[in-house]
Amino acid sequence: MNKGLLVVISGPSGAGKGTIYGKVIEQTGMKRSVSVTTRKPRPGEVEGVNYYFRTEEQYQQMIASGEFLETAAVYNNFYGTPKAPVFSNLESGYDVLFEVDVHGAKSIKSKYPEAVTIFLMTPDFDTLEARLKSRGTESASALKMRLDSARNELAKYEMFDYIVFNDTVEQATAEVISIIEAEKHKVKNNVAKINALLAQKR
Ligand code: 5GP
Repeated sequence: MNKGLLVVISGPSGAGKGTIYGKVIEQTGMKRSVSVTTRKPRPGEVEGVNYYFRTEEQYQQMIASGEFLETAAVYNNFYGTPKAPVFSNLESGYDVLFEVDVHGAKSIKSKYPEAVTIFLMTPDFDTLEARLKSRGTESASALKMRLDSARNELAKYEMFDYIVFNDTVEQATAEVISIIEAEKHKVKNNVAKINALLAQKR
């Protein structure tokens, strides 16, 4: 059996990563990588679906026991990816989708170079600002911090394999899925299957 693909959706906060992530999961049946965070849940967020919400003390214990594939401090909170479920899914042939910040994407790519990294961006910065404002969850200073970070994150484009401009949810979702489909058809990702075919008796 072929190993699963590890796909990372990254990009600035407000680019629509969460929405596109949910749509791609819904339409492909890929496995979610559920992150752990010390941030408080937003209205509607569900424990174990959006995040595992933990105290800072619990989080530090998880770091100490080596449970994370990567961990990052993003806007004064900690976020991290538990590694055990990811690798067991990949070994079992399931594709796993991540949604992480740009530092997380870099760190995953350095530890797992086969990861497919996709940068999701709004068509322009005005759209990004409008989307962040419409969330209504950020203070003015947090909003400014997120807009400044977005520019710095886009400048790190070279570490990504793909970029998708999120004009509409339908278009961006379709483009992400087509990238994943193309990756799944790469010969190097089908060696196990090809060898199994070659080993079959005629
Ligand atoms: P939010 O608080 O808006 O859910 O997420 C803030 C940022 O943290 C987003 O850019 C999101 O992609 C990122 N993030 C979520 N989970 C992880 C993770 O496990 N690792 C890293 N490095 N970033 C994450």
